[in-house]
Amino acid sequence: MREFAEPLQKLIAEFEKLPGIGARTAERLAYHLLKIDRDSAMSLARAIRDVKERLKTCQICFNMTDGELCRICADRDREQEIVCVVEHVRDLIALEKVGAYRGLYHVLGGRVVPTAGKGVDSTTLSSLLTRVAGGTIKEIILATNPDAEGDATALSIGKHLAGSAVKVTRLARGIPVGGSIEFANVEMLREAMAGRQEAENK
Ligand SMILES: [Zn+2]
Repeated sequence: MREFAEPLQKLIAEFEKLPGIGARTAERLAYHLLKIDRDSAMSLARAIRDVKERLKTCQICFNMTDGELCRICADRDREQEIVCVVEHVRDLIALEKVGAYRGLYHVLGGRVVPTAGKGVDSTTLSSLLTRVAGGTIKEIILATNPDAEGDATALSIGKHLAGSAVKVTRLARGIPVGGSIEFANVEMLREAMAGRQEAENK
């Protein structure tokens, strides 16, 4: 990349670190930014800075937020008695796009697989258990991804909740095994949510 001036080299190198961006696309993006006006380019720079500096995790559900609580936890019109447990924020976003679910969420931030020795400490599971112990929640919907580790995570959470009065359900098998909530279509997710069934281990 010696043929480029240093600031341009740097920009291209940064673009190349992004997923799905090869060398040629990185160059095209960099040229595009050179061409557009200063305000538009600075607006992109500010957007990047803002997501890193202003976004934090919701104190209740671990969704992303720029305040103390995310807009879902702050919305008192949402059903306070149902909590849908997802692995990542991107799963929450996919389920919200369906627009059919009016309860709350809990973002685990990973998977709980006790046999692999990972999860209980590296996820927000203990916060979920504290929320359930609060007594308001009547149903927990396990919306982990339909693959081996997602199933193991759902099973493990179900076991942790076995002594509580809360009803534990699992999304219906509308999403293909090995697929993911993030990439499932809206219709599939709506059916998976509507057809949820009580988890067997509870
Ligand atoms: Zn929240």
